[in-house]
Amino acid sequence: AVVTRFAPSPTGFLHIGGARTALFNWLFARHHGGKTLLRIEDTDRKRSTQEAIEAILDGLDWLGLDYDEAPVFQSERGSRHVEVAEKLLEHGFAYKCYATQEELEEMRAAQRAAKQPIRYDGRWRHRDASEAPLGTPFVVRLKTPEEGETTIEDKVQGKVIVRNEELDDYILLRADGTPTYMLAVVVDDHDMGVTHIIRGDDHLNNAFRQLPIYRAMEQIEGGWPDPIYAHIPLIHGSDGAKLSKRHGALGVESYRDEMGILPEALFNYLLRLGWGHGDREEFTREEAIDAFDIDGVGKSASRFDLKKLEHLNGHYIRQADDARLAQICAPMIGTNADLDLLTRAMPVLKVRAKNLLELAEGAAFLFAKRPLELTEKAAELLDGEARQRLGLLSARLKAENSWTIEALEATTKAFAEELELGLGKLAQPLRAALTGTTTSPGIFDVLVLLGREEALARIDAQAA
Ligand code: GLU
Repeated sequence: AVVTRFAPSPTGFLHIGGARTALFNWLFARHHGGKTLLRIEDTDRKRSTQEAIEAILDGLDWLGLDYDEAPVFQSERGSRHVEVAEKLLEHGFAYKCYATQEELEEMRAAQRAAKQPIRYDGRWRHRDASEAPLGTPFVVRLKTPEEGETTIEDKVQGKVIVRNEELDDYILLRADGTPTYMLAVVVDDHDMGVTHIIRGDDHLNNAFRQLPIYRAMEQIEGGWPDPIYAHIPLIHGSDGAKLSKRHGALGVESYRDEMGILPEALFNYLLRLGWGHGDREEFTREEAIDAFDIDGVGKSASRFDLKKLEHLNGHYIRQADDARLAQICAPMIGTNADLDLLTRAMPVLKVRAKNLLELAEGAAFLFAKRPLELTEKAAELLDGEARQRLGLLSARLKAENSWTIEALEATTKAFAEELELGLGKLAQPLRAALTGTTTSPGIFDVLVLLGREEALARIDAQAA
């Protein structure tokens, strides 16, 4: 059975690349009827924060990515990591290295001078602990294979080969006895039963260094098969450069809170960022689970396109349930936002909003207190003449006994004709009086939404 995992380091928020990795792991497991797990890689105690952990959990939850077990915190598993390092040591797959810092610095300086690659040269690999003066601190290093090559059949990158002489004997346990990240990842993935490691291709090199641990443990105790790897290309900015804040690479919560993106819009956008399924653009969650597989993930970096995300967001806003949109927008508008009215207004409000902030902003007039604050343009429209006409119009509207779009439109049009005015000449000041702005849904929709009493009061407040 398939088991995948998402393993974020909580040193920052859940950014767009991490969210996509999480999504692909989630979809792959759901598609194959397997499990998907979450591991918080919080071993870097100085850089990991509770705030980041919460932002990650919150972001995943918002995107609708659920996990089959409680999250695993890597920092709580230190003794297990040490246990595996000791097994490797005991069976000759790792060794103690007593080289001092100064000695290693000299080694690197010499490598630099000789223009050789800078890496640990294995100087303690064949020496015995008895050669070190008593009490010398040591680290534990992995004995990586020295000859031949290691091949990974990566599900995205294809066959990747590295010559083993390029692999250094890296550290498993530091001098203070704490495990390194490289060891922790392998032990945790094994213990969590992870079968497929789907992650950014910036970890491809690590795979070659991590595999020797699996292979050694497989020899020692069995039950440590190689995982299946899928290293997905990183996301680049629209200009092709590595994605950064400048390109809109923000934490997921910024898309929600600062950009007013709906989770299903981000879900779909991320889904199609590096994965394709013919020309199909749109997927429900169920359809995405159905269609997703690793073969659809391309080998080249994908480009993050904020415009496209915004466009998609507008599309999903128009499809979204009105009551739900009202729920989301109400707190943005303020405490007096009546959910019922907001829900009724949604069909006309949502037709042009690109994001939820715009949507809330466009709805604010419904709840504005009299006298309305006027935008500069609205104030200009309400000149003396316009105010007079509003007064006349108000009288006509007061006589209207059916407060419906059709009736209000007929009355207003008839009045405009009487005055030999284009409808706009009447409708524009009317809009200014009703909404305080010069853009709003159709003016008859606005009249009906506000209701007779409030609409007339707003008109009268501006009428001469
Ligand atoms: N914690 C690592 C990161 O956030 C991921 C490690 C992995 O997926 O193996 O980059």
